[in-house]
Amino acid sequence: MLEITPNAQRYIDQEERYGAHNYHPLPVVLSRGKGAFVWDVDGKRYFDFLSAYSAVNQGHCHPKIVAALTEQAQKLCLTSRAFYNDTLGPFEEFVHDYFGYDKLLPMNSGAEAVETGLKLARRWGYEVKGIPEGEGIIIVCDGNFHGRTISIVSMSSDPDAYTGYGPYTPGFLKVPYDDLPAMKKAIEANSDRLCGVLLEPIQGEAGVKVPKDGYLRSVADLCKAHNALFIADEVQTGIARTGKMLCTEHEGVRPDIVLLGKAISGGVLPVSAVLADDEIMLTIKPGEHGSTYGGFPLACKVAVAALTVVKEENLVEKAAQLGEIFRAEIRKIDSPAIKEVRGKGLLNAVVIEPMNGKEAWDLCLIMASKGLIAKPTHRHIIRFAPPLVITESELREAIEIIKESVSEYLR
Ligand SMILES: *Cc1c(COP(=O)(O)O)cnc(C)c1O
Repeated sequence: MLEITPNAQRYIDQEERYGAHNYHPLPVVLSRGKGAFVWDVDGKRYFDFLSAYSAVNQGHCHPKIVAALTEQAQKLCLTSRAFYNDTLGPFEEFVHDYFGYDKLLPMNSGAEAVETGLKLARRWGYEVKGIPEGEGIIIVCDGNFHGRTISIVSMSSDPDAYTGYGPYTPGFLKVPYDDLPAMKKAIEANSDRLCGVLLEPIQGEAGVKVPKDGYLRSVADLCKAHNALFIADEVQTGIARTGKMLCTEHEGVRPDIVLLGKAISGGVLPVSAVLADDEIMLTIKPGEHGSTYGGFPLACKVAVAALTVVKEENLVEKAAQLGEIFRAEIRKIDSPAIKEVRGKGLLNAVVIEPMNGKEAWDLCLIMASKGLIAKPTHRHIIRFAPPLVITESELREAIEIIKESVSEYLR
């Protein structure tokens, strides 16, 4: 079992005593990271199979990203958008060339990107589509995770996320995920007032729920037919994680609005971005939206470096190839403890059967004791999402740890 040293316990106690209790971490205290690995305060090494919820796709402390950060930090960190600076324009043009959208709107957290996407969709609905102001509807999916603001939890179906935070923001309609008939019905019934549909191409926090082939394509087509925007929350699935640069590419879909966060900075700074074409993006005029730090010089330089690393190191192809290996090897384990293995690229989940009074959390503790950290989501599901820079031999070493852990879990 996982040993907690007095040294580690000190930090755990400190957080318990002086920090808000809004998380329940695995009891490992980390102090260093490099590539696919992190080390705890006692010098023990772990494979990082969470990658900060897919923010660290480029690996911990990637030298090129850290170099961009430290170089810019000595020149200029923050100007606010009250003035121009010499990093934002280059970042915006870089992202235009990279993803092929007319414009970028920079924010910081993923939740802010989602909020921005909601504002854009409503604004577009009123100004371009001609929906009467204040009557716009945005369709979302059950089981979604889009962040933690009041408006975002207003569209959540997870009681832990929304309970006790009302009154809630109106204007969202929830339909079951990966249920095309339900989506079609909701879109048709609300066609005149529909600003858009917001969804995750794979639901990450819900436990890596991969929709049926053709679902995203069909939803995007329905949106087009009803003059509504298809808004893809690619905060977790984007930037090579699922074996494509954007997860929607698996179905050849080009969303009207793309929401990016997490790995756009390679886990170095909170950077998020909203991508859209002019017809949508230019509905927001000067003074009508923003953020003090949004698109700050450090963020711009770090994001360009982080996106450059994704291409230089072929992380899209790596995620696709290593993901195949991962799923095939875990499926071979053939243990009663493993109910299902699913995912795309290196965004995978294993559904764990509770046994002998043990469940997914206990398996995570066993894996941590053997040098691999991952975390359960929704009690019986463990997400496995290593940094995409992990090598094939490292991945195979990690798979051995998972195998040994599963046998120990059965004992
Ligand atoms: C993590 C996440 C967010 C929120 O990002 P924060 O940076 O935590 O605000 C939004 N959408 C999805 C799909 C996410 O996984």
